[in-house]
Amino acid sequence: MLYPFFSCSTLLADILEALANSLMASLPDPVNRLIAALSYLPGLGPRSAERIALYLVQADLDSVKELAVALVAACERVAPCTNCGALTEQQPCGICGDAKRDASLVCVVERAVDIVNIEKSGAYRGRYHVLGGKISPLNGIGPEDLRIGELQARLAREPIREIIIALPSDVEGDATSFYLAKLFTGKGITTSRLAHGLPVGSGLEFADSLTLGRAIEGRRPIE
Ligand code: ZN
Repeated sequence: MLYPFFSCSTLLADILEALANSLMASLPDPVNRLIAALSYLPGLGPRSAERIALYLVQADLDSVKELAVALVAACERVAPCTNCGALTEQQPCGICGDAKRDASLVCVVERAVDIVNIEKSGAYRGRYHVLGGKISPLNGIGPEDLRIGELQARLAREPIREIIIALPSDVEGDATSFYLAKLFTGKGITTSRLAHGLPVGSGLEFADSLTLGRAIEGRRPIE
């Protein structure tokens, strides 16, 4: 390839790609297959996958076997709760099966991992419902692709009085929250959304303007 204006970044990218290709070509097939499998993991690009694969094939065999066993065991034993969608080893999950939790409150979250974060706060004693995503017409995700039907079914069999929507405060989160609030209007259920607050312990200079604006809108009287 010619570089008439000597673009350093283009030249460097070509050299790196050539080096990566020559490394892939010189690696044994099982390692290339491992790199390809690891590349599918979220947050791992080809270079990170290559680094991990090369580390694993040179690591102590017993520790690699332990990792493989833990990986298979976690995938075999953990599944979404058939009621709320949380990840669990038993059906229903510990939260749905806990009689001490407030069954009249359901907190709607996007992903199962969001439950962990809310539980860590220790500020919530109700139950949960995992939607499994947000409404996103641009990505072809409509209400029927989310666990909204399951939530409606729960309303018929559980004593739910309030739904707290804890979705991200982005465009898709806002659209999904609005959709849910409209869906449950007039059904004798209060729909609320998490207050958009400022990070505890930091000054106003660390808050972005959107957070600050919403914190002002969502202000509450001092009691
Ligand atoms: Zn559950």
